[in-house]
Amino acid sequence: MLVKRGIAVSPGVVSGPAFVLGDDDARIARRFVRASAVDEEVDRFYAALETVCAEIAGNRELAAEQLGEQFGQIFSAHLDLARDPLLAAEIEDLIRQKSYSADYASSIALDRNAKRLRSLGNPYLAERATDVIDLKKRVLSRLNGEDRLALAKLTSPVIVLANNLTPSETAQLNREFVLGFATEAGGHTSHTAILAGALEIPAVVGLGRFLNDLSGGETVILDGNIGEVIIEPDEAAEEQYRDSQARFRSVAQRLESLSGLPAETQDGVRISLMGNIEFPEEADHCIERGADGVGLYRTEFLYLGQNQDPTEDDHFQAYSQVVSALNGRPVVIRTLDLGADKIPGSMEQLVHRGANPVLGLRSIRLSLQNLPLFKTQLRAILRAAIGHDVRIMFPLVSTLLEFRQAKMTIADVMEDLEEEGVPCARGLQIGMMVEVPAAVMMIEEFAREVDFFSIGTNDLIQYALAADRGDPSVANLYSSGDPSILRLIQRVVSAAQANDVPVSVCGQMSSDPRFVPLLVGMGLRQISVTPHVIPELKAVIRQLTIADAERIASQAMSFELARDVESFLNSELIKLCPDYLR
Ligand code: PEP
Ligand code: MG
Repeated sequence: MLVKRGIAVSPGVVSGPAFVLGDDDARIARRFVRASAVDEEVDRFYAALETVCAEIAGNRELAAEQLGEQFGQIFSAHLDLARDPLLAAEIEDLIRQKSYSADYASSIALDRNAKRLRSLGNPYLAERATDVIDLKKRVLSRLNGEDRLALAKLTSPVIVLANNLTPSETAQLNREFVLGFATEAGGHTSHTAILAGALEIPAVVGLGRFLNDLSGGETVILDGNIGEVIIEPDEAAEEQYRDSQARFRSVAQRLESLSGLPAETQDGVRISLMGNIEFPEEADHCIERGADGVGLYRTEFLYLGQNQDPTEDDHFQAYSQVVSALNGRPVVIRTLDLGADKIPGSMEQLVHRGANPVLGLRSIRLSLQNLPLFKTQLRAILRAAIGHDVRIMFPLVSTLLEFRQAKMTIADVMEDLEEEGVPCARGLQIGMMVEVPAAVMMIEEFAREVDFFSIGTNDLIQYALAADRGDPSVANLYSSGDPSILRLIQRVVSAAQANDVPVSVCGQMSSDPRFVPLLVGMGLRQISVTPHVIPELKAVIRQLTIADAERIASQAMSFELARDVESFLNSELIKLCPDYLR
């Protein structure tokens, strides 16, 4: 039995067979295949090699045709290497003799050959070692690509164990067969984690390396409440699993009954609880859970997992579906937050992947540099908004100039629509996400120009503490409870209040029941959260008084360390509502 602890990102307790996804990264896990599957694995290797050879032959022809025969020759050398029967036999032997997976056998055999070539002290042969490594990457990427394709074609329930899943892959997980997933990489607020919550698939991320030695098919228990994954559990663990699952179900049932009640404190202050959504279908989840509206619609997911950009009509259909489901309640549509980890296939060329993509061309920056893309979306929003309470929000605003340019683009689009005689909504509220520390420093100036603020703590924490939100090795630094984060939030709330600008928090911090009393105590009266946590947050808010919340906030603000803030908030939550906690 192997027990791993990671970051709990989507609740639920499940058990099922493992479906293991490797990565084509430099480090390949030492995985074995069952004796009965060895022939199949050998075939898989040869099929991958065949495809790689065809690819290289294609490159050779193209290079010879466009650049001249001497360039084509470069690929001929690669092709000879890929077709070397001794090399292929060495890999086949490792699969047959040691039951290694095709990925692992290819990885070690090709690494070994590259090393041999380098050790001969001949510069020409050392160059050839680079070709061997290139071949390794191609073969692994083929093998891995196949695994990933298999993920889309599941026919029975599994628990997916992967090094990482991209937001696009997660968005396409089949809920019928994926009982849960666990990844070695990822952090609490990575987009993969957020999607797990949206899709309501139990998930644990940031487990660190553990896929070594797994061959798939092992029994797995995944507890998305406490962030635990158990491989090949013993009797006692199985028993405990059944208890946790029963407990989880009974708490979930009790919480369900709260959906219809208002999120009102004991002393009668109404807190507006909005939902965060990524897909139009989630609008219904918001209503079922008793949300007061949609506080963050991450529209970029319309682009992910597609080969072609959505048309204006695709945008229009999606937005119309959401606003009509919300039936008069407010809907905050965030304009595209593409870039960084959210790059659709159609945009690979457009987005330069620099060394630090989260500091690169993403979000509003990308929209402002690609006006046709931005305007297509804005046209659809303005058309879909007629007769509804739709608000537009720009992501990742860093400077006043960006906000003004983005707002001006809306005015341009309205003018275009008017000239074309296309009906559109007018006078929509226009706000911004506050998720870049520079925007917090300029918050008073922004407050004079915006209709509302929404604090995006997921990115704000990442940029303020210089800690990647998806990197488990800095998860200790990445904390919503860090005193610096509390001060940044306080500053935004004070400026918003002083200027009568509505303010909300839509980062994952507000979906964590521990932080809700603190946020209310800091003066927030609106938050936007993952829909499935709404009943739980109602339970917390309905136990709270504003005086309590203010005491909690003032005490939390007095600590110097994140861990003291978090353990204090934890103990306050337990006192407040012990019955509902999972
Ligand atoms: C945030 O950064 O807090 C946020 C809500 O946006 P996203 O998670 O989509 O980056
Ligand atoms: Mg963000």
